[in-house]
Amino acid sequence: MVIMKTKIIRLNEQQINMQAIEEAGQIIRNGGLVAFPTETVYGLGGDGLNAASSGKIYAAKGRPSDNPLIIHIADLESLERIASEVPKVAYSLAERYWPGPLTMIFKKSDCVPLETTGGLSTVAVRMPSNKIALALIEAAGGYIAAPSANLSGRPSPTLAKYVIQDMDGRIDMILDGGEADIGLESTIIDLSGEAPVILRPGYITEEMLEEVVGQVETDRTILEGNSKQAPKAPGMKYRHYAPKGSLTIIEGPQESVTTFVNSQLSINKKEGKRTGVIATDETAGLYLADCVKSVGSRSDEEQIAKHLFRILREFDDEEIEVMYAESFECKGMGQAIMNRLLKAAGHQVIQV
Ligand code: AMP
Ligand code: MG
Repeated sequence: MVIMKTKIIRLNEQQINMQAIEEAGQIIRNGGLVAFPTETVYGLGGDGLNAASSGKIYAAKGRPSDNPLIIHIADLESLERIASEVPKVAYSLAERYWPGPLTMIFKKSDCVPLETTGGLSTVAVRMPSNKIALALIEAAGGYIAAPSANLSGRPSPTLAKYVIQDMDGRIDMILDGGEADIGLESTIIDLSGEAPVILRPGYITEEMLEEVVGQVETDRTILEGNSKQAPKAPGMKYRHYAPKGSLTIIEGPQESVTTFVNSQLSINKKEGKRTGVIATDETAGLYLADCVKSVGSRSDEEQIAKHLFRILREFDDEEIEVMYAESFECKGMGQAIMNRLLKAAGHQVIQV
């Protein structure tokens, strides 16, 4: 890995410094890498139509090269250039949810290198709504391949300071646009087959997709740990979002969860371990850990989604070795929250 000087520029989404955007766009056109804010999480961007740039993205993240990248676009004409077939439902979905946190998968056209798609004949495409992201895509020539801007396996960054932690010295530039609004990666829907299939849950829920396309299937591997079925989205087979310490999700009635967690905590403390709990506003006062963090109120799933990755990172900052998390209902956006939490926990769940 070449160590380089990473330029960091602070930007305001409401009043974008176009000179900085031009400079960043030029870096990407020249085959370099720029991390930038989106409404979901920070992205690590390179030219999606340049095989060498995609190679650099994999190297900077330490990501296996069969884990495909999402190409970010700023207008619908760009979609028609990189997808060889765009079914009608894609236009309906785009009209309703683009720009926004929805990624669609299509059969790819020849101009998309296999390096970008992890060797697949399909391409994942998203039009983000963050204004810094849209301006950068245009300045960079229209096609930015960008996975989340974290080292492979780590929680996705929702703040530039975590991008700096993982990427300083590995990429050319980091654009700091403040905290990501949504905080979880996009929903992914595969439109390249006979029927639409959700490959990754996100802010755009199954119900919201069904309003537009009728019934959609959800890939069964999404919430299962040891399914024998190979996941359709290659990235889903890798360990993800993992904090440095061990994380276990505790499921059951609230009082039983609190009692069980507190008994575990006292054992862990006797072992000399630093402990943490991912709690909610309603329960944060009940746990006896070294570090208790609330992800938000149970009545506000958007807040929980927004805070989850930041909290996983904060536990690392505080060198917490053993963590417990409360569980959330797998309905609506809760499905995306539990999908990320289960992966972060390596599917370690205890029922009480
Ligand atoms: P991220 O991990 O946020 O970089 O998102 C990229 C993820 O999108 C990958 O890990 C895959 O799960 C999914 N993905 C991207 N392209 C494709 C594709 N062509 N087919 C299926 N899944 C894809
Ligand atoms: Mg990622």
